[in-house]
Amino acid sequence: MTTDAFKGYKGKALDCLKKFHVRVWSDAVVKTTRGDFEGIILPRSENDDERHIVLKLITGYNVGVAVHTITGMDERGYKEAHYKIPEKEFPYSEKLPNVKLFGTGGTIASRLDYRTGAVIPAFSPGELYGAVPELADICNLKTEKLFAVFSENMGPDQYKKLAVCIGEEIKKGVDGILIGHGTDTMHHTATALSYMVQDSPVPIVVVGSQRSSDRPSSDAALNLIHGTKAAAESDIAEVMVCMFGPTSNEYGLLHRGTRVRKMHSSYRSTFRTVGDIPMAMINREKITPLKTGYKKRRQDHNVKITPCFEEKVTLLYYYPNMMPDMIDAIVDNGYKGIVIAGTGLGHINKPLYPAIERATKKGVAIYMTVQTLWGYTHMFVYDTGRDLMAKGIVPLDNMLPEVAYIKLGWALGQTSDLAEVEKIMKTPISDDITEREPCNGYLVFQGGIPVVEEFLKSVHK
Ligand code: ASP
Repeated sequence: MTTDAFKGYKGKALDCLKKFHVRVWSDAVVKTTRGDFEGIILPRSENDDERHIVLKLITGYNVGVAVHTITGMDERGYKEAHYKIPEKEFPYSEKLPNVKLFGTGGTIASRLDYRTGAVIPAFSPGELYGAVPELADICNLKTEKLFAVFSENMGPDQYKKLAVCIGEEIKKGVDGILIGHGTDTMHHTATALSYMVQDSPVPIVVVGSQRSSDRPSSDAALNLIHGTKAAAESDIAEVMVCMFGPTSNEYGLLHRGTRVRKMHSSYRSTFRTVGDIPMAMINREKITPLKTGYKKRRQDHNVKITPCFEEKVTLLYYYPNMMPDMIDAIVDNGYKGIVIAGTGLGHINKPLYPAIERATKKGVAIYMTVQTLWGYTHMFVYDTGRDLMAKGIVPLDNMLPEVAYIKLGWALGQTSDLAEVEKIMKTPISDDITEREPCNGYLVFQGGIPVVEEFLKSVHK
């Protein structure tokens, strides 16, 4: 049914489907103010997004159509998908450590439906055991689905809830925490937890997968095995990301929560420690620490949970010719903090200076990081840097831009006293600022070396 007079649907995704008598899993044509789309309607409602309808196009790509642009829909065909995973009861052994897995969503909590290619949730311990029986040799696993979102939908509310739930589990005496998470913003969550959950007696490991479990090249099972092993057995009681190491499946890497970043949109070996070397290598047999000086596992159940976040904080990625109205608009919209990812050693252009001065005079906290990612801000090297500091910008050494954004939200969530905020920002937590970056850190254990070697050999004959 199509209504020509109707300009854009005003309600929620599910109501929109009902209005136009179109079912999830049907082949449909969706008419929008931007043109028509044809494909299979996927069950996006499971992912908590009420404002989009997701279609698998004939090309195989998924597209999210904003409901407010939809003017009509026609169902062309229908075939329901079946995707129940065989469940087996997760065994319990008194001898094994107890791990709690919190699910937040993302590809790791999904499998593919063969008919549509849709990514659908799979999560209970029974399902996980059915899919990856090795997990039962490592630990007793309990799971709790906190959210079922793709990770672009994670944010302060979810970080706070996760932190509180982790605190409760630690107080109950769990031996390790595992968090299943979409990879896209996994490093933001790992950072938020590094601040909100401090002095944990047990490892807190965030794990995900780039490719869902039904694909032959999936990294889901291996990452899950490595992540579970790290949570259950590792003596590193810190917030870490556990993902594929090299391009092959030889080993996984454990990265510190504040020093890790997703660096490739599709490779399984996408996570890289930046400004340091990874914390440990992991395979099915053993965990090999690569760094010393980490916080060790303890037997007590004490942990410090600070679930605070000021949402009016932003991260501004500088580009040449950025205009001052960008800064003014942020300030006029009531933002309390800005992290700038500046060029080189921490630069922005001169025309922005008066806007920076106006902002800091109004009490907006402004911090500088570097968009090179590796290396430090050095704002004493050029006059321009000194000028910026005189206008109130505070450099953050080698803190990564996203990390600084999360930390500023966390700091401003606790206090509006800017001197106090500055103290929090400049006091290193979980190596978010380090005294020096290892000279070989840029290359060592980043997982790509054999590939680089092979390439060099093929060129230099
Ligand atoms: N878009 C997904 C997410 O971040 C990708 C993944 O899970 O790897 O949730």
